[in-house]
This record gives sequence, structure tokens and C-alpha cells, in this order.
Amino acid sequence: MIEIDITYACNLHCLNCNRSVTQAPDKQHMPLSMVKSFVDDSIARSKRWRRIRVLGGEPTLHPEFMAIIEELRRYRQWHSGCLIEVVTNGYGKAVTAKIDALPQDIWVENSRKTSVIQPTFGPFNMAPSDDPKYAHADYSNGCAIMDECGMGLTPSGYYPCAVAGGIDRITNDGLGQSTLPDDSDDMLEAARKLCRLCGRFRAGHFVPRNLRPPLLDEQMSPTWERLYEEWRVRKALESTPSVQLTVRGDAPQASERGKTS
Ligand code: SF4
Ligand code: SF4
Repeated sequence: MIEIDITYACNLHCLNCNRSVTQAPDKQHMPLSMVKSFVDDSIARSKRWRRIRVLGGEPTLHPEFMAIIEELRRYRQWHSGCLIEVVTNGYGKAVTAKIDALPQDIWVENSRKTSVIQPTFGPFNMAPSDDPKYAHADYSNGCAIMDECGMGLTPSGYYPCAVAGGIDRITNDGLGQSTLPDDSDDMLEAARKLCRLCGRFRAGHFVPRNLRPPLLDEQMSPTWERLYEEWRVRKALESTPSVQLTVRGDAPQASERGKTS
């Protein structure tokens, strides 16, 4: 199984979003070419996916959402046993119109969200590495998500799970693999570095909704506060246009990112 995060754009900004859509908003989309490569590589390597889930962010907000679905249907022409599923928040007319337009052979998981407060969410931003109880944890174990949802593909590449790719978007460690990993590659190094930050590591396994303590506010441990601050600074620098600095004398002009003249 694999989960593909095709965008980090979303029309809701839920507290404790495990893709950091609220904490670090960015309309980053996966290029259609990446989905094409995934399909081509899967067929070339005889990968028989049991399920391909399309998520985000809110996946219907991807400008090439329908083209991505058609690419995945191309894969299913090769492997008819694959379930293609879209996971949507079902929020707003634009989203529901896209969902209604999907072909009948696409399965839809619609969480029908109506609020930014999601009491059944877990405290994603409570990094276990900030908690002394986890001082000796082996983070390469990850959690049951890898087993229940499969590996992940995000705009940054392939990961042990899609949540891990969303964490790497913030840490900027570049741990995503650019091509479909070999079956023998468990991506343990990525899990070791990324699961230490993931609140889901604490539960480890699926917890039935009625047993989850209601989460009504945003919870964040110090490492995540620092990581989001660093992310904001990085984004601000990236969005600052380069300026031309005129240097006196014979030296040519130099451009420096993030500096004003
Ligand atoms: S709808 Fe989903 S992706 Fe969007 S903010 Fe809420 S949890 Fe995150
Ligand atoms: S702990 Fe988080 S990042 Fe690691 S496998 Fe589970 S969901 Fe993915």
C-alpha cells in the first residue's frame, strides 16, 4: 500500500494537523510528472499495489487533481486489483463538486469535517524525543501506520509513511528518496530521524475513536516550536527577491538572497 500526498494546500486549518498544513501553511503541489513516474516505475518493476490512497492537504485542491486520478487509473489498467482511494475533508462546495465528479471506480473516504477542532486527532506535535520517557526508544520501529497505510510519496519523495514526508517538509533534511525504493529497503534511517518527532509514535498502534482523550487545543513540544520558527524564517528568506548589490570599483555586481539594499 502507498499514500500519496499530492498537495499541502487545504481549505481547512485544523489544529494538530499531522501534515502541518495549519502550523506551516504552504500551497506546495506534487508535479503531475512525479505521479507519472510513480506509475511508470510501478509497472516497470511489477509492483502490485493493493491500495493507492490520494491525500494532502485537501487533494481536490490540486490544480491537476483529475489528471492525477487518470494517471492512477492508467496503473489500474495494468493491475486491476488495486483499490484507488481519495481521502477528502468534504468541506465546501468546490471540494464536494470535485468529489462528485470522480469516476465511480474511485473509492472516497470523506471525513466530512466542519470545524478546525478535531477532538479525535492525536497530539501530532508532541515530539516523543522531547519526553524523557522515550530516551531509549528505537524510533526506526515507527508505528502501525507503516503497516496499516503503507509507505508514503510526497512532493519531496518516498518515505516510510506519508506523515514522515510531511515532517521532512518542515525539518528540511531531504530524507525523501527520489525513485521508488527497492523492496528490500525499509527506509529505517528516515524512520529513525523522523519518527522521533511524530506524536503518533506514542500510541504506536491504532486507538479506537471512543478511547481517545478529546483534543480541543493545539499542543506543541519545544522542538516543534523551534522547527516551525526555523521553517518560517526559511520561507521568508525564500520569498524575499534577490537584490542586486552594486559594488564600487571594478568588481561585478553581486546578488544576495534575503538582503535589502
Ligand atoms: S482537513 Fe486534513 S489536511 Fe486539512 S488541515 Fe484538516 S487535518 Fe490537515
Ligand atoms: S511514528 Fe509517525 S512518522 Fe513514524 S511511522 Fe508512525 S506515523 Fe509515520
